[in-house]
Amino acid sequence: MRSLVVDHFDARAVFRGLLDGEGFRDRVAGSCLYRCPRCGHRIRFRWRSFYQANGRSLFKRKLRRVFEDLTPTLAADEQGCIDFYCPTCQAPTRIIYSAQDYSEIAYHFEIYAALVGEGAARK
Ligand SMILES: [Zn+2]
Repeated sequence: MRSLVVDHFDARAVFRGLLDGEGFRDRVAGSCLYRCPRCGHRIRFRWRSFYQANGRSLFKRKLRRVFEDLTPTLAADEQGCIDFYCPTCQAPTRIIYSAQDYSEIAYHFEIYAALVGEGAARK
């Protein structure tokens, strides 16, 4: 199997529009903008993108395992991830976030980091 390079990017390195406040960092409020560190492609994520993410992954098992091994356990009520391929450079990407229960019907989502594999050469 080809070796796979996966780099870790802190939330701040690849996201814009996250909120900081007392006791929290990098919270999703409304929406935020992700920028692929490989090719610059931008994707807007909304609060419900995280709410509706249900752990389904597009990755094949081997690739998913590589990402699982690099995904830490966060100190949070729950954590989740969104896996996708960058639409422009095809870099496999995982966004890791925590979910804090703040009422019976709602969550705060705080982005921890993105793990990004190699993209194809730019056309
Ligand atoms: Zn990309």
